[in-house]
Formats: sequence, C-alpha cells, structure tokens
Amino acid sequence: MAKVAFIGLGVMGFPMARHLKAKGGHEVTVYNRTFTKAQDWAKTHGGTAMRTPREAAQGQDFVFACVGNDDDLRQVTLGADGAFAGMAKGAVFIDHTTASADVARELYAAAKAAGFGFIDAPVSGGQAGAENGALTVMCGGDGDVYAKAEPVIGAFARACRLMGPAGSGQLTKMVNQICIGGLVQALSEGIHFAQKAGLDVDGVIEVISKGAAQSWQMENRFATMNEGKFDFGFAVDWMRKDLSICLSEARRNGAQLPVTALVDQFYAEVQRQGGARWDTSSLIARLK
Ligand code: NAP
Repeated sequence: MAKVAFIGLGVMGFPMARHLKAKGGHEVTVYNRTFTKAQDWAKTHGGTAMRTPREAAQGQDFVFACVGNDDDLRQVTLGADGAFAGMAKGAVFIDHTTASADVARELYAAAKAAGFGFIDAPVSGGQAGAENGALTVMCGGDGDVYAKAEPVIGAFARACRLMGPAGSGQLTKMVNQICIGGLVQALSEGIHFAQKAGLDVDGVIEVISKGAAQSWQMENRFATMNEGKFDFGFAVDWMRKDLSICLSEARRNGAQLPVTALVDQFYAEVQRQGGARWDTSSLIARLK
C-alpha cells in the first residue's frame, strides 16, 4: 500500500483514481480544478480532497495526473502551487495525459533536477477501459523509476510497458492515434458505400468482420456508425489535439503522414458540423 495523489478527475481520471483506492488498496488524495468534483470523489470513495496540486502532492509516494493538454499539464505541475513544488525526494510523478513528447522531456528534466522521478504514461482504452480498469499504458522514463511505478499503475491497467527514455510513451501513443485515424475513415467509407449500394450493412459487417477487414473499430463502432449515433467516448476535439501533436512530431522527425493530415482536416469539418464532442467514429457524418 502506498500514499498516492491523483490530479484531474475527468472522464478518465475519476475512475482511475477509484481503482487506485478500491483495487490497489492505496491511500488516495485527489485534486481537481473544479473543487466540487474532488469533494464528490473523496466523499464517494473515501479519501482526501486538496485545493492545490502542490498540497495534493505533499508527502506522497506516487502522484498521478490526467489533464487535457500540454498547457494544462504545465499548469498543474509547475509554479508555486504546482505539484512539483510539493513532491518529496524519491517520489514518482506519473502523467497519463496525452501530451507532446517535448513536454514529457521537459518535465522529466525538471523532476530529475529536483530529485524525484517522472514517467510519461499516456493510455489507450477509452472511458470503458478506465471504468473497467483495463487500460493499455505506454511509458517513457528511467527503468528503475518505472519498476517502482508499474505495480501501482497495475490497479487500472491491462497492459503496461516501458517503451524507452522520457517521451517514448507519448511517441507510442502517437503511433496508436496515427493507426486509428486512417482506419476509422476507411471504415466510414465502407459503411457509407454499403448503404449507397443498398446492402444490408449488418450482414456485410458480420461477414467481413470474420476476414482481413476486421478491426476493434469495426467490432465496436459499426452498428452505431450505421445508425448515425456518436456518443461513445473519445471526442473529436481530443482527437484533433492528438493528431496535431502527431503532425508536429512528424514535421520534426521527417515521417510522412499524408492520410493522418487529411483525416485531421476531415475532423475539422466534423467540428464545423457541430460535432466537436461527438466520438471519433463521426467521420462518417461528413459523407452524408
Ligand atoms: P476530461 O473529462 O475533459 O477531464 C480533464 C480533466 O483535466 C478535468 O479534471 C479537468 O478539470 C482537468 N483540467 C483540464 N485543464 C486543466 C487545467 N488547466 N488545470 C487543472 N486541471 C485541468 O478529459 P478526459 O477524457 O479525462 O481526458 C484526459 C486526458 O486523457 C486527455 O489528454 C485525453 O486526450 C486523454 N485520453 C482520453 C481518453 C478518453 O476516451 N476520454 C482516452 C485516452 C486518452 P475540471 O473538472 O475542472 O474541468
């Protein structure tokens, strides 16, 4: 049992913190920008709510964060009230935000200079993965620090792996998002084509999902895509944030991402259609 803090009780963080308490058996302190949410969490699950990230981080063995983007992450870590100001020497900060590899390296260096560890640890598996404690966690950082963190992360992970030095977790998450973008567009076009061809879409998917076209997106999203329902998790706004991170990293490392760049523009069209909070399978909506 460890003393842990969780910063950012959103769609993902709220249930992840719950697993640290219920499954991990840890003593959990929480911080959320909207304080009432932290109070609700503490009341429901039994823990302590703090008013600043610094206070939440004080005296903890592990401090977790899951906030929005690079700027949000800097806001909860740096500065007088940031978590880093409260971190004990030898403690570990584990960041589950999907952010850039740059900010991961920057915070890793700041943590190292101050005598504590930092692991970038973005997740995949969505809201359902967080609720069920079945996330995939992709980590970057030092091996000895990761070895301490892995069993604690295990409270909400189905798979957890150290991918390399600081930033490698974020780079791996970028690969994940690159693979999803083109695939969802292809699935959208397939369903759209089947509709236009007058085929029974359920029957088409039942058959082709037994063959080489099968994918997680096909299995889990085709029925709702066919019905034009897009309320099933990861939002278009978040995806555009992630694709923008991928595209800037690719500009730097020279990777060619033509389909990812195109799909990013398609998602911009979905946003203009009013779909900013729709889930990522809403790419099919712009084909109508
Ligand atoms: P969310 O529901 O919008 O929650 C975001 C959390 O961060 C909230 O607790 C919010 O506080 C806090 N926050 C945001 N900006 C902040 C700031 N400047 N200072 C302090 N706190 C701040 O988002 P989410 O869906 O949990 O996603 C969190 C991260 O996980 C994102 O990086 C996302 O890309 C990634 N992710 C999400 C999913 C998914 O399916 N949702 C899947 C994989 C990865 P308030 O309550 O005050 O707003």
